[in-house]
Amino acid sequence: MSGLKERIARLIGQTGPISVADYMAVCLFDPQAGYYTTREPFGAAGDFTTAPEVSQMFGELIGVWAVSAWRALGAPAPFLLVEIGPGRGTLMADMARTISKLDPVMAGQMDIAMVEASPRLAAIQRAALAAFPVRARWFAALDELPEMTAVFVANELFDAVPVRQFVKTGSGWRERVVGLDADGGLAFMAGAAGLDPALLPPGADDAPEGAICELSPARSALMATIAAHIAGHGGAGLFIDYGYGQPALGDSLQAVRAHAYAHVLDEPGATDLTAHVDFHALAGAARAHGLGAGLASQGAFLLAMGLAERADALGAKADGAVRERLRGEAERLTAPEEMGALFKVLMVGPAGAVLPPSAAALT
Ligand code: SAH
Repeated sequence: MSGLKERIARLIGQTGPISVADYMAVCLFDPQAGYYTTREPFGAAGDFTTAPEVSQMFGELIGVWAVSAWRALGAPAPFLLVEIGPGRGTLMADMARTISKLDPVMAGQMDIAMVEASPRLAAIQRAALAAFPVRARWFAALDELPEMTAVFVANELFDAVPVRQFVKTGSGWRERVVGLDADGGLAFMAGAAGLDPALLPPGADDAPEGAICELSPARSALMATIAAHIAGHGGAGLFIDYGYGQPALGDSLQAVRAHAYAHVLDEPGATDLTAHVDFHALAGAARAHGLGAGLASQGAFLLAMGLAERADALGAKADGAVRERLRGEAERLTAPEEMGALFKVLMVGPAGAVLPPSAAALT
């Protein structure tokens, strides 16, 4: 057993089973052995590849969105451009380059705020932004942000925030927990805690025993903090992740290592653990603070922001091999069978605001 696995097993032996959310939190963020605290997860040599690492065009088009959104908000100045969970810093570097090129006035009014809990990743991000003439500061937590208008972006943030799971049993819905089997190994089981039936999605009454319902108070709380900032100081937010638009049942907890699926309980701390994002719940958390929200598929969003035109522009000065690569990147980001449909874009902002690329007001 790995050190972290032994520690978790010992803790459970002493105090009893832990919730799936607590398991996820310790696996990802344990200070000594957590996945994000100690590993280098991103890219071909790591465990998974995120959209900013697939193509520079992703961050460029989010940069185009930031310019249009800032103008639609009335060009507030000065303002913060905030990224939460910036990974290697690639998205912000591509955004900053694009914003400086498209709107130097906006760039001059902009303070970049990188919200990153891991000092190791913050150092990598500093190096990624070093080449740009921008003012950037790092914050370990969201509640440390200065009180000013802020445009937020985050890619694959919410999927890494812990979810609770509930399992349907003969005696109703019970919290799914991680306990010890007869051999002392980690095993899923039904715990004692129940669940408010009002939180269940439609169809839950007819679900078979063993069905799983995922809820994430931690994600809703994170969105509530962001929404409170926007409601109090002005701004907007764009959140890209994989997940579903309507409440649904299902076990989406997954472990990934070296671009392949692993067992969730096998290697705590050594595999990335995520669960699909419930965008309906996140939109609800934003609306509860008086904001409006809108959801689009990643494919539709990027195409509406001009992905095909950007690929043509980059390809125009390049050779056939580069054009082929750009076509492949655009395909990977937008094709429904790749990242185009499962990945979604949630936009939040003042209710009634019209933010690009949509012509409709946020509701
Ligand atoms: N956005 C990057 C990295 C995605 S991985 C990319 O697209 O490549 C998820 C990131 O979210 C990690 O950097 C992790 O440390 C960060 N993260 C998870 N929970 C967080 C929280 N509550 N506050 C800030 N960052 C968080």
